[in-house]
Amino acid sequence: MLIAHKIALDPNNEQETYFARAAGTARFAYNWALAEWRRQYEACKADLALPKPSQMALRRQLNSIKAEQFPWMLEVTKCAAQMAIIQLGSAFKNFFAGRAQHPKFRKKGLHDRFSLTNDQFSVDGSRIRIPNLGWVRMREALRFTGKIMSATVSRVADRWFVSITVDTLDAHLPKAENQGAVGADLGVSALATLSTGEIVTGPKAHKALLSRLQRLSRSLSRKVKGSENRKKAKARLARLHARIGNIRTDALHQLTTGLTRRFHTIGIEDLNVRGMMANRHLSRSVADMGFFEFRRQLEYKAAQRGGVVVVADRWFPSSKTCSCCGHKLETLPLSVREWTCPACGSIHDRDVNAAINLKNLAVSSTASACGEDGSGLGRKLKTKPASVKQESSTKLPMGSFG
Ligand SMILES: [Zn+2]
Repeated sequence: MLIAHKIALDPNNEQETYFARAAGTARFAYNWALAEWRRQYEACKADLALPKPSQMALRRQLNSIKAEQFPWMLEVTKCAAQMAIIQLGSAFKNFFAGRAQHPKFRKKGLHDRFSLTNDQFSVDGSRIRIPNLGWVRMREALRFTGKIMSATVSRVADRWFVSITVDTLDAHLPKAENQGAVGADLGVSALATLSTGEIVTGPKAHKALLSRLQRLSRSLSRKVKGSENRKKAKARLARLHARIGNIRTDALHQLTTGLTRRFHTIGIEDLNVRGMMANRHLSRSVADMGFFEFRRQLEYKAAQRGGVVVVADRWFPSSKTCSCCGHKLETLPLSVREWTCPACGSIHDRDVNAAINLKNLAVSSTASACGEDGSGLGRKLKTKPASVKQESSTKLPMGSFG
């Protein structure tokens, strides 16, 4: 399984300058290739004899002109440009498969990163060696053992990180302590409600820091464009965004690690996030808590311990069904937090009841689908690793933040 570990770096001034330059080269190559891809695509639509654009052809094309047209590219590792174009190829592949939007141009300050193939760097304890640059200190040692696949150096606010992707081969974590099942209902008011009745409140990162965020944004908008003060305000805002992101990421990791460590079988809902995003009141909470990220983490962490995640389909009436007698309500408005079953008289907390239904579904579907291919784990093991790698390089700060 591919796992990425993102670790904060401690570069000196010279190394920081190199990172910025390599990230600039990667961005330039990506944007050059994207523009060229579009141009060649239009050209081959008009003339079918022309070849369709591909990342491999574009890499060759750039290699043949870079010494003459972009000699500054030679000052940094050749991986910066090459890997950026390979990533553009993957972005197009995801786009054609309907998994992602059309690739966009990378922006300075927003997509500052470059990647290295495993023959272009080495890791020794808490330092990493990068070509033309030497050893760079890392805030902690790599946590996973296995074959090192690649690394991506990126900037978040004013700090640099390296995300190292490792193929952990067959290294497994201990099995879940409690071999039982749990249902987890991700909520709006709480981060999650478990079928055991536990409520995980979560940090409410945005709410606590929202006023500061608003103040900083307002102050930024008043600063004169191009001024030194505007630059400073922008950096402050970026740091605050990074901090909020860290708080949120940390809470989610704690929740998913806790669940997979304790329970073997975990039932969750496949939330219709698109539909929920349309609801303005819910959208902030949804964005705040990251349902997709929750599911992604649960799946890979459960797989590491041999556990199973069962995802209810989005029409599964987890909230409207009585978990005692199975009676199904016609409707249950979101504002109703507690209700009494008209059939058996049980009094339900909306979220706990939903979590119990998810647990029951998880138990029954793992029991009936035992040995079948479609029963969650087998399928997920096959499809997950790639996305673990992809997303974690940008969104998964698992390392320390000092
Ligand atoms: Zn009932």
